[in-house]
Amino acid sequence: MNLEEYKGVYIFAEQVDGKVSNIAYELIGEAKNLAEALKTDVTAVLIGSGVKGEAEKLGAYGADRVILVDDPALKEYRTEPYTHALAEVINKYKPEIVLIGATPIGRDLGPSTSARVATGLTADCTKLEIGDFPLTVPAGKEDTQKHNQLLMTRPAFGGNTIATIACPNNRPQMATVRPGVMQKRAKEDGRKFELVEFNPGFTPNKRYVEILEVVKKISDTVDIMNAKILVSGGRGVGSAENFKILDELAEVLGGEVSCSRAVVDAGWKPQALQVGQTGKTVRPQLYFAIGISGAIQHLAGMEDSDLIIAINKDEDAPIFDVADIGIVGDLNQIVPALTKQIANYLA
Ligand code: FAD
Repeated sequence: MNLEEYKGVYIFAEQVDGKVSNIAYELIGEAKNLAEALKTDVTAVLIGSGVKGEAEKLGAYGADRVILVDDPALKEYRTEPYTHALAEVINKYKPEIVLIGATPIGRDLGPSTSARVATGLTADCTKLEIGDFPLTVPAGKEDTQKHNQLLMTRPAFGGNTIATIACPNNRPQMATVRPGVMQKRAKEDGRKFELVEFNPGFTPNKRYVEILEVVKKISDTVDIMNAKILVSGGRGVGSAENFKILDELAEVLGGEVSCSRAVVDAGWKPQALQVGQTGKTVRPQLYFAIGISGAIQHLAGMEDSDLIIAINKDEDAPIFDVADIGIVGDLNQIVPALTKQIANYLA
């Protein structure tokens, strides 16, 4: 494999029901940072049926080029035709880096594609950067560092450590990236980009799954990843009923309630509201951590919030290490008093 042949940062522009998902714009934002470091450009790969109209939005968020694979075989997501489409794009255009969202679709498509093109993939990354690999050269050893590598960082061993992984001997370097972690760029309507239509050729085979029916379930929980204000409760809240005081605070602030895993494990709240390594990654403008100790797996999902206010009766709780404002005391007294003060102020 001639690594020099592989150029450009590519992202898989996931779409559902013909509409590009937010993760695609987040990936373009991060791909732009990597492309600037590598002095190259960003390509979005849009795969689907009747999705050409979405290409413009990818351009507006920063894609320099959109490769469109549009075919009736790609109407709904299925592993085999999507893997074929993305693998053929990689074989033809030879990207240096390919980023895919760590969504249910991406977690299926990423590894099947990396296996098809015989390269490595780092799953569920929370940080990406361009740098040297190995990261350091031990004193007295020969310098065998490779430069301009994609350094892919993700939590490992149950979140107890952070691993930085590279793929120095194969191309492309592939990663799935957690939704909500990377930041999209400002939309620039009418921004110029190149549109390339690519047909990898589809021959239906026996391995194709046939979709008989799509049953959609409407979730009755809010999407905490889009909330600007989150009032998050932990085991310290004490019971499902006592979450009422957090509901009231969220209501006066126009925010949403979320929680730690201990709360989900206790059956007080659904998993969709869990923040953290095995929950959602959030980045609200304001995050209240109420009765949450601040375990590393929880911090992994919220530490990039703009402003963190922690309320905990234990002044040594690790949550105070990441909090901008810390209030030590009983949440049963502090939260209702705070709600009352804010309600009075806003009245
Ligand atoms: P606790 O750690 O029990 O903390 C409760 C806090 O409430 C304490 O600090 C206490 O001082 C305070 N408190 C109690 N009463 C009051 C009161 N009246 N007033 C004020 N403060 C009070 N956790 C997550 O949250 N998200 C994840 O995604 C996640 N993923 C995980 C993945 C793995 C592989 C593993 C091993 C663990 C994961 N965890 C996750 C669990 C994590 O390690 C912690 O166990 C969990 O976050 C603890 O939740 P908590 O802070 O609500 O509870």
